[in-house]
Amino acid sequence: MIQAKLQSFTIYESALMRTTSTLIDTPDAILLIDPTWLPEEIATIRRDIELNRNDRPLYVIFTHHHFDHIIGAYGFKDATTIASQAFVDADSSDQLDEIREFYEQHYIDRPIQKPEIDIVVQPNQTLQLGAVPVTFISTPGHDATHLSILIESMNLLVCGDYGSNIEPPFIEHDPSAYLETLQTLQTIIYEHEIQWFVPGHGDLCDNRSKMIERLSAGEEYILALPENRHWSPMWPEHSFFDRVHERNRKMVEQKETDRRSRQQDY
Ligand SMILES: [Zn+2]
Repeated sequence: MIQAKLQSFTIYESALMRTTSTLIDTPDAILLIDPTWLPEEIATIRRDIELNRNDRPLYVIFTHHHFDHIIGAYGFKDATTIASQAFVDADSSDQLDEIREFYEQHYIDRPIQKPEIDIVVQPNQTLQLGAVPVTFISTPGHDATHLSILIESMNLLVCGDYGSNIEPPFIEHDPSAYLETLQTLQTIIYEHEIQWFVPGHGDLCDNRSKMIERLSAGEEYILALPENRHWSPMWPEHSFFDRVHERNRKMVEQKETDRRSRQQDY
């Protein structure tokens, strides 16, 4: 379904985990970020693109290699694809297994492939896509391959799996990197007067203090780990998130143990 439609961009929201796909319309190029999840949802996005294409080139950008963000790549084989070097280098076999398992359980038959990347961006590189400069900000912590996408001329920040109002941080890479990323995103919000803030899961935010509130909630939560559960009232309480929290807690503990043993080695 369509979560938000503005003049220059549309946010599609999947029925699953409220995952967002962002379609950006520029005068001479179409940009699509993270097409996802279900076959009909992918087909709808594809149809909407073709209805208004007018021979413009299509770019598909992947924020990171997690399966829920690459699952729809098969629908856009003719697009020019963009992702980070870490995305290209990463072993994504676990992610493809997750897609396979999901498809098997739900009797879905669609191609399962890690997307081939045409343009590999360096951290914080700006590319001219059509007439619009697009900046790719390296944002590790949730995942090592992660990029957030800044379109300064639209005051738009598509941040990927950060700044959600419906889920806690999923720390799947590194807690310190996650905290740094939250700082980076806050700085960008102020410096570029971000007006539209799109998370990978949940609602578009058009209020700057609420954007900061979301990122700060993540920060406070991570800083309280592993001992405390600093849970924002924004995030629901249920058993799935209990498991996420437990994983986060263990991740922070593990990194702390690693750090201590490294210190002893010196
Ligand atoms: Zn993710």
